[in-house]
Amino acid sequence: MMLAGELALAGVDVAIVERRGSHELDGSRAGGLHSRTIEVLDQRGIAGRFLAAGRVMPQLFGFVGIAMDLGDFPTRHPYVLALRQQEIERLLAGWVEELGVPIHRHRDVVGLIARDDEVVVELADGATMRGQYLVGCDGGRSVVRKAAGIDFAGWDATTGWLIAEVEMTEQPAIGMRREGGGVGPVDPARVGGPYRVVLTQPFHDDAGEPTLSDLRGALVAAYGTDFGAHSPTWISRFSDMTRQAVSYRRGRVLLAGDAAHVHPPQGGQGLNVGVQDAVNLGWKLAQVVRGASPDSLLDTYDAERHPVAARVLHNTMAQAALGGVDDRHQALRDFVTEWLAMDEPRRRVAGMLSGLDIDYDLGGGHPLVGRRMPDLDLVVAGAPTRVYELLRSAEPVLLDLGGSDGGPPSPIRTVRAIYDGVWELPVIGEVDAPPAVLIRPDGHVAWAGTLDDPGLSAAIATWFAHSPGSVRRTV
Ligand SMILES: Cc1cc2nc3c(=O)[nH]c(=O)nc-3n(C[C@H](O)[C@H](O)[C@H](O)COP(=O)(O)OP(=O)(O)OC[C@H]3O[C@@H](n4cnc5c(N)ncnc54)[C@H](O)[C@@H]3O)c2cc1C
Repeated sequence: MMLAGELALAGVDVAIVERRGSHELDGSRAGGLHSRTIEVLDQRGIAGRFLAAGRVMPQLFGFVGIAMDLGDFPTRHPYVLALRQQEIERLLAGWVEELGVPIHRHRDVVGLIARDDEVVVELADGATMRGQYLVGCDGGRSVVRKAAGIDFAGWDATTGWLIAEVEMTEQPAIGMRREGGGVGPVDPARVGGPYRVVLTQPFHDDAGEPTLSDLRGALVAAYGTDFGAHSPTWISRFSDMTRQAVSYRRGRVLLAGDAAHVHPPQGGQGLNVGVQDAVNLGWKLAQVVRGASPDSLLDTYDAERHPVAARVLHNTMAQAALGGVDDRHQALRDFVTEWLAMDEPRRRVAGMLSGLDIDYDLGGGHPLVGRRMPDLDLVVAGAPTRVYELLRSAEPVLLDLGGSDGGPPSPIRTVRAIYDGVWELPVIGEVDAPPAVLIRPDGHVAWAGTLDDPGLSAAIATWFAHSPGSVRRTV
């Protein structure tokens, strides 16, 4: 839905094909949004909807449950926003509806035919749909990925978990068990349930949808009783399977979100990475579809986003290994807890989990290049304006901060602004103030320097492929 919204903002004819009849989920999945995801929503002017529906938590979900403070991070959102995936999906569905994106529900994709100039999508009812490009955002078992013949390389699951919200007639034993998992109240302020249960279980790929009797069996195996478990709100499974598509693109077929990467839920990163994949891909695909950029621009999506998810796979594998329940693992966790209480390691790990430290390799230069643009308080034409407000329409912006004499007329929307505060980046700290910056629609800096730097026109040609004759207005 995030990708569809980005494409619609850019004026592309886009449609979502969805198997489910609604955005209602019958299981637990993501529990919140990290700082960078809230920032990208802020760039499009929709963060307020999510903030109004969620609860601000000053500490990160943590690394293997070790809490970390984000309060000193230079962002407007130095926290985790606790918000159920069901709510996140409801709000995104509302946004794409406003943008006029059709969602074809109850339509099941079963195959595809990729041609030189189009992709034909085959549906279970025998119908077909056609598009210039197809992006598989169809989850870990992605039919699109399989039909495109893209390998999903990585590690099989070693452990599975059952997770549920359920009522109990007896008072359960509250708390984490030494053997892993445990039972806790869904709402600590309410006495007498419902309860959240998480229990390990041997993993079977073909186990099917879990039932109340599976949950009761797991409780009896762990506690010797099922505490009279009944009336589950939902029961779900997850595992530590860790896999990534070897490429995010094959011709006119691309992958994003869980279709491109799966990993255990530690650190609460999966949905966040998927939303950010979409924001990286949206403007590039829009430019290619409109004929403004060559097809090769799409290769930068894989080049930039594959390493980001590879790092998430790596950190979740480490967290899964650190989560062992015996004394030796506990001793190791004690050390890691001590290290993460120190400022430098905390900043690094929190920068990674929050997504604030992402640094695409765009050729170097000023430390801003490749990193996310900070949301500075500017003055534009005498009025206070935030940088992220300039990104609402998902177009590139050349921010002229008055530090240079001016260069040739720019084909990119140019904004003259005043800013006299510090420039501080997450994890790396203060950096020199640049005279001007070129900001991509995804909020990452493509170039920084003086307006007469030949690197500026090179960056504009690389990212936006504008013809030299076209000149945009300056505000
Ligand atoms: C227990 C648990 C806890 C988690 N906690 C967090 C967390 O705290 N933070 C976080 O960021 N992430 C978390 N995640 C991960 C998060 O849920 C996923 O990363 C996220 O849902 C991926 O979104 P997606 O849109 O890529 O895929 P999905 O959510 O899987 O959506 C894919 C969509 O495609 C549809 N679809 C699939 N196949 C077809 C088809 N053939 N035809 C038509 N439609 C199809 C599906 O119906 C679905 O709507 C958690 C996951 C689990 C299991």
